[in-house]
Amino acid sequence: MNELFRADYRDIRVYGGDSKGFAVDLSDNTNQWGAPPAAERALRAAAESMLRGYPQPYGESLKDVLAAHVGVSPEWIVTGTGSDDILDCGFRALATHGARVAYQSPTFVMVPTFAKTNGLEPIAIPLASNYDVDVDAMLAVDAHITYLCTPNNPTATPLSRAAIEAVVDRAKGFVVIDEAYVDFADDDFSNLVKRSPRVLVARTFSKAFGLAGARVGYGIASPELITEIEKARGPYKLTALSERAACAAIGEDLEWVRDKAKLAIAAREWLRAELKGRGIDTPPSQANFVFAPIANAHAIASHMANAGVAVRAFAKLPLIDPLLAATNGDALRITVGPEPMMHAMLDAFDAAVASLATSEAR
Ligand SMILES: *Cc1c(COP(=O)(O)O)cnc(C)c1O
Repeated sequence: MNELFRADYRDIRVYGGDSKGFAVDLSDNTNQWGAPPAAERALRAAAESMLRGYPQPYGESLKDVLAAHVGVSPEWIVTGTGSDDILDCGFRALATHGARVAYQSPTFVMVPTFAKTNGLEPIAIPLASNYDVDVDAMLAVDAHITYLCTPNNPTATPLSRAAIEAVVDRAKGFVVIDEAYVDFADDDFSNLVKRSPRVLVARTFSKAFGLAGARVGYGIASPELITEIEKARGPYKLTALSERAACAAIGEDLEWVRDKAKLAIAAREWLRAELKGRGIDTPPSQANFVFAPIANAHAIASHMANAGVAVRAFAKLPLIDPLLAATNGDALRITVGPEPMMHAMLDAFDAAVASLATSEAR
């Protein structure tokens, strides 16, 4: 049967990121303070009445709520099952087989996968040593789609407005700007959709909005672009329950979301200082996680996992700056949360580092 399968799917791997069952799970950048109470109330009320009928085909009520939130009209919004779905539908709608997708590296691990599953060719372009996008190298690809991520996962660093605008102005193809962490950042690039009809901004309810389990994301773009993406998306994608939860979070609990984002920002600065006190320099973070280049990251993370604390380890990242060059591309990505979680994490981290040091000394 193997020869019947798509040859270009052969080296695509199924996503393996399952970290369920840890006492403290700081591996996936979700909201460690919980979910918006209004969303939970809306779900309980909705569950009794919303199961039998279809949802709205394109999530129309949520589009209205999001349009008001972003400051555009509803034709500028597309909804999806997480921003994963916005990226996937965007790639599928906007490029045909064999087209190139240029993307900054390191970045969100799903990007090359979504390119490949849609028959596109992903081309990684290392970030500059200041963690900004290398505009000339990116444009030299002459890609059909250029993917930018700010603040970036896993480095937590923002791209500069000057570099993003240069890519938008000079790229001939589409430009996707992934703003999964915009709620923790100083800058917001959604207004670039007015600068160019070729820009798609992707956002999610999974991080600051505390609704990762509901799978809700959205895109902002010119109405022409939204129409094309909705062709690939298809109708009835969001469940009625998810749509209701997301509407409640935006409509009734924005203060809750903003308060928790403030706590996350304070926690990340505290964690960066704690790591610095241990001799670990981290690039400035504008997200709800800290990126810590450190040698033996995988060994440290597996020690911590044994102590019930999950963090995300990376190896062989591009050696874009002296911090990553010093660790040969090893790094940890640590989501921030309430104080007790941070202390449990640091205890597990210190124990892991000490244990590796003694086993090396032996
Ligand atoms: C988490 C994340 C996403 C995906 O979020 P979902 O809405 O849960 O699919 C997209 N992009 C980046 C950069 C992320 O970190």
